[in-house]
Amino acid sequence: MDAREVKNDFPIFDAHPDLVFLDSAASSQKPRSVLLAMTRFYETSYANVHRGSYPLSDAATDAYEKAREKAAAFIGAARPEEVIFVRNTTEALNLVAHSVAEAFLNEGDLIVVSEMEHHANLVPWQRAAAWRGARIEAIPITDEGRLDLEAAKSLIEQGPRVLAITQMSNVLGTVNPVRTLAEWAKAKGALVVVDGAQGAPHIPTKVADLGADFYAFSGHKMLGPTGAGVLWGRHELLAELPPFLTGGGMIQRVRIDRSTYDAPPARFEAGTPPFAEAVGLAAAIDYLERLGMEAVWAHDRMLVEYALESLAQVPDLKIFGPRGEDRGGVVSFVFPGLHAHDLATFLGQAGVAVRSGHHCAQPLHRRLGVSSTARASFYIYNTREDVDRLVEALLKAREFFKDWL
Ligand code: PMP
Repeated sequence: MDAREVKNDFPIFDAHPDLVFLDSAASSQKPRSVLLAMTRFYETSYANVHRGSYPLSDAATDAYEKAREKAAAFIGAARPEEVIFVRNTTEALNLVAHSVAEAFLNEGDLIVVSEMEHHANLVPWQRAAAWRGARIEAIPITDEGRLDLEAAKSLIEQGPRVLAITQMSNVLGTVNPVRTLAEWAKAKGALVVVDGAQGAPHIPTKVADLGADFYAFSGHKMLGPTGAGVLWGRHELLAELPPFLTGGGMIQRVRIDRSTYDAPPARFEAGTPPFAEAVGLAAAIDYLERLGMEAVWAHDRMLVEYALESLAQVPDLKIFGPRGEDRGGVVSFVFPGLHAHDLATFLGQAGVAVRSGHHCAQPLHRRLGVSSTARASFYIYNTREDVDRLVEALLKAREFFKDWL
């Protein structure tokens, strides 16, 4: 994979030739093929799906269902109906938490999460727990930034109803041993929910290998447009789950005082779905598959190793997260004494786009002993020169802010 060639496919870099974009963990840039696929769809095939009985609507429905098939194949789902289109990971996880709470959670049940969860895989479980009288425990992390597997084992020994865990941390870059955790959890009868927001765009992932029951990801972090994400669920489970959102498109029979619901996936897709965005997501998957997910992951790994080595040369910089094969392309750091927002603003002025803040992971930052971090994250269009530019800008920032450090 040649990142320079890849970069040519992304019009944003024509508009900003000097931009070093290191914020793909928040949202990725889009290749021309994705933008064109959506434009072409709007210009030639646009009509609401699953509603019209005229050819244009049939064409749109066909494109939407083909996108579902593509998303299903991308994650190795057993059948396309296991893929539910939602707006993003957040909506997918809210759907699971709400519907699982209604169908399966009882008073006193245990929900196990981890200390490194994004708020999207934590707050919905808090609501579910409050609703059903369940309790939440978090797997702690080690000082290197990995899950404490001994602690995980003993929590799972307690027989949780749900294990909700991220595939990869959006702050530490840690790739969790989801399969092992899922095996332990399933042996105890738990439902396993995996947040794939950082996993699906970067790591070759087949849901059967993960051992999960539910898997959530966002299209906008993997070259697709905003507004289209995926919840995958095992079909037997989806068939048992009540809906989350209700209204048009998800019913069989409606009376004034009661309704019956359609089968999955329609049951979970109330209202007009993001079908043009799903077409864009399908084009994004095509793009990633042309590169090959193994190559995408290898590129991330190469860049993060190079970044960790290079950043270690920056005096005073504190870097978070583990070293090793289980480390994806995310690096968070601080200059102790300097607020991460000030650092990120300085880097931004130098043409290097990084994110700063708590990255929707406040419990994790509390554990790390900082209120915020600056975060560089890599994707297929980033090069080693981008890392060099980051290091250069950090050295300048250190000089500029020297009285603070
Ligand atoms: N989980 C993780 C690990 C994330 O990184 C993100 C995005 N920051 C989310 C969930 C939420 O994704 P979205 O904002 O697309 O719903």
